[in-house]
Amino acid sequence: MARTVKEWIGKTDDTKIPPRVRERVFDRAEGICHCCNMPIKVPFETWDADHRIALINGGENRESNLAPAHSHCHIKKTRQDVAEKAKVASVRGKHIGAKRPSSKLSGKKHPKPPLTKIVQHRRSLYEPIQPQERM
Ligand SMILES: [Zn+2]
Repeated sequence: MARTVKEWIGKTDDTKIPPRVRERVFDRAEGICHCCNMPIKVPFETWDADHRIALINGGENRESNLAPAHSHCHIKKTRQDVAEKAKVASVRGKHIGAKRPSSKLSGKKHPKPPLTKIVQHRRSLYEPIQPQERM
């Protein structure tokens, strides 16, 4: 009789995958990298339990969403996921008109900062404020 193993589900997206779950993920995929479909040659190659659907793209931090990937493939995929996320976000932003309306307000002067800020930056009476100081 096959023993049933409860699926691991991370409490939060930041919950680290326990080693036993990593092992299960690896075994279930028979050690095949889900990015390049090549076998992962442990211990000569390092690998990560990767989220098939990236967390930032709505994937869940649970065993069924995990697959082994070479560390170098994982890095590449993460970059793609981030790019994908950025693309989606920017497309959405355009659709709902969420872009900064800065150009249309260029005729207006900057609004006065709230009282608390004036207190915080009392020295600004003597020095001009440089809002882009940190960039
Ligand atoms: Zn790979």
